[in-house]
Amino acid sequence: MEATEKVHCLIIGSGPAGYTAAIYASRAGLKPVLYQGIQPGGQLTITTEVENYPGYPEGIMGPEMMQHFEKQAARMGADIRYGIATKVDFSGPVHKVQIDEEKWIEADAVIISTGASAKWLGLESEQRLNGYGVSACAVCDGFFFKGKEVAIVGAGDTAAEEALYLSKICSRVHMIVRRDEMRASKVMQERVKNTSNITVYWNSEIDEVLGDKKVEAVRIRNNKSGDKQEVPVSAFFVAIGHQPNSDIFKPWIEMDEAGYIKTIPGSSRTNVEGVFAAGDVQDKIYRQAVTAAGSGCMAALDAERYLSAKGLH
Ligand code: NDP
Repeated sequence: MEATEKVHCLIIGSGPAGYTAAIYASRAGLKPVLYQGIQPGGQLTITTEVENYPGYPEGIMGPEMMQHFEKQAARMGADIRYGIATKVDFSGPVHKVQIDEEKWIEADAVIISTGASAKWLGLESEQRLNGYGVSACAVCDGFFFKGKEVAIVGAGDTAAEEALYLSKICSRVHMIVRRDEMRASKVMQERVKNTSNITVYWNSEIDEVLGDKKVEAVRIRNNKSGDKQEVPVSAFFVAIGHQPNSDIFKPWIEMDEAGYIKTIPGSSRTNVEGVFAAGDVQDKIYRQAVTAAGSGCMAALDAERYLSAKGLH
């Protein structure tokens, strides 16, 4: 027989959205239980300096900021736990969430704040050399390749922004773009084109990341001519977008075609009564720490109103 625990308000995920929801839910007396997920603290724990979060006039390092969020949620009384939500059952009035493939939690209200993760190309060599020169975060890891040649794949605003960032640290940035144009905004494209140490490879894809124990080169394939060339680099950055962490909710929660959870405009409510969503898992537009925190606040307030209306609080 699997163990079951009953809680009032369950929060899944520990980025700015989850912790802010925990702060508000605690202060409202909902006694929230928060499971931190695979990456406690979320995406900000793999960034360096955050300069645009209000309240930190000198800026702050991402991991430190997330420690502050956690500390504040704990001080308000949130029950913060290690653990990953592995399955859900939202068929009944009481919402069931399985943790670590073992224990089931029954919750009156659930706040989903599982965030989004970087997308990968899916090459074996990319996976094997991840952390050994392959990275999905130029701002986190660019520093390690100061003065070196690096490559980056992607052509959106993130790729353009990261290529420009790398161009200031590295001797040359090889930017691999799969079509003959970039998706990035015009201003970012212009900046990339006007930066002398960024070389753009149009109509090109990464055939393989080369290197035994660390990245030594990338093999680039022109998808028009089929020609291949090897470019020696010390690092390979992947900037091809993000994937919302919403897979386990798929059978129950309405999402868009990319997997972002749909919320009722102006609220954090999902199609399932008593289940709310906040942060990057439901936001593909703003994706900022401050907007995630704001939506976490909305989710806690919506949860409290829902529980009151149901006579559960
Ligand atoms: P996007 O989805 O906008 O862009 C992803 C890019 O990666 C596209 O150019 C796409 O190519 C390319 N790509 C996807 N899959 C592959 C693949 N398998 N191989 C090669 N290339 C691939 O993601 P971003 O993260 O760049 O941006 C997400 C959102 O955030 C956007 O709305 C963006 O405007 C916004 N943003 C805004 C910023 C700002 O304003 N300062 C900064 C960063 C992001 P293709 O074009 O061919 O599909």
